Amino acid sequence: MTPDSRLLGPADVRALAAELGLRPTKRLGQNFVHDANTVRRIARLAELEPDEVVLEIGPGLGSLTLALLPAAASVLAVEIDPVLAGALPATVAARAPTLADRLTVLTEDALRLRPESLPRPPTAVVANLPYNVGVPVLLHVLEVLPSLRHGLVMIQSEVVDRLAAGPGGREYGAPSVKLAWYAAARRAGPVPRAVFWPVPGVDSALLSVRRHAEPTGPEAMRKAVFAVVDAAFAQRRKSLRGALAGWAGSPVAAEQVLRAAEVDPGTRAERLSVAEFTRIAAARGPCGPAAGTRT
Ligand code: SAM
Repeated sequence: MTPDSRLLGPADVRALAAELGLRPTKRLGQNFVHDANTVRRIARLAELEPDEVVLEIGPGLGSLTLALLPAAASVLAVEIDPVLAGALPATVAARAPTLADRLTVLTEDALRLRPESLPRPPTAVVANLPYNVGVPVLLHVLEVLPSLRHGLVMIQSEVVDRLAAGPGGREYGAPSVKLAWYAAARRAGPVPRAVFWPVPGVDSALLSVRRHAEPTGPEAMRKAVFAVVDAAFAQRRKSLRGALAGWAGSPVAAEQVLRAAEVDPGTRAERLSVAEFTRIAAARGPCGPAAGTRT
């Protein structure tokens, strides 16, 4: 961290919130970090190169933004709350005047973000995510912004464990497979509740993601893969033959697809890797195996 950026402490966060008449809402997952060590740690773990363009989702009062600006070429901050988005440039101008031109603020819902809204393609996503929409936001930006190569996000601890889980365990589910379609993910450590205002009712942790060098499958296949994943985990205690019966048209049709994909029809969703789910979607083909074989 350079001295060019004065980070926000507890008194600063309270004063800024009071100035804006801000009442943090649960609906928008508004828990603001007021600890300089935490934002420094996030910026360090993000492993940013000096030429990187960072996408920050939900900058809030600017705690993390101020730590990111010295570490990257630019920060594109996407904030849904117009009051917070409106105040951020002034906060940065006051606390990091030499870095203020690196910041672009967009008042937008990150769930609807499109590449055309951004002045340049971001290479990294770094964020203290709004927890109620953390998983869909992360999956959405990885989908629509192929320029994103890596990321470091803060989210509920148990969600981090689910997202980083591999096949075979209880924590492994549809979000783990969907994230694995895009990227390798790992837990990057816990974050204490005391660093937030207001203090959240859940534990938080950091998740590091790195996009695969080679895509898992063609983009045209992704929706088909996610549909199998959703169907398989909707009834995760059943064998795949049963869990995929509705998706395939019947248990017999499901068994045919699974055998064509070289996946044991008696196994359960939680044992399959994203590569195996991709084989199942591919084996079904565009018209489905059930055509003419429904029983
Ligand atoms: N980055 C700040 C920090 O660390 O103190 C704030 C993090 S707070 C957990 C989440 C932020 O995301 C809030 O500022 C909230 O208004 C914003 N937010 C909530 N939903 C959003 C959405 N769909 N798109 C963009 N921002 C959103």
